[in-house]
Amino acid sequence: MNDCLFCKIVAGKIPSNKVYEDEKVIAFTDINPQAPVHILIIPKKHIASVADTSELDMDIYARIMSVGKRLAEEFGLKGGYRLVTNIGKDGGQAVDHLHFHLLGGRTMGWPPG
Ligand code: 5GP
Ligand code: ZN
Repeated sequence: MNDCLFCKIVAGKIPSNKVYEDEKVIAFTDINPQAPVHILIIPKKHIASVADTSELDMDIYARIMSVGKRLAEEFGLKGGYRLVTNIGKDGGQAVDHLHFHLLGGRTMGWPPG
């Protein structure tokens, strides 16, 4: 996807503060953090959102969850954290490349806005 912001980050055409990378996913800090720790975990492959996922891509979700857990440990989120994805306009999704937010370092509210 030539015009996708996060594909450009994956390709290194737009700089990011990368905190993790493997063959399937990368993770980098959010440009506008909503918590002391705010990391985005994304697949290298372009998938627009959960709503656009094929059954064949389920391994990506397993990887994202395991990277989320690992980063939460690395960043010292002992008290807990939130790992969430927004889907579509009503879900609050602004960037149409699948991403999970790892948020921590403060107490989260519920319900979210
Ligand atoms: P969404 O609202 O789609 O769930 O989340 C998109 C996230 O991407 C937002 O938290 C926003 O701050 C972050 N973001 C948007 N553009 C950039 C960018 O160029 N670099 C980084 N690191 N984060 C970005
Ligand atoms: Zn993309």
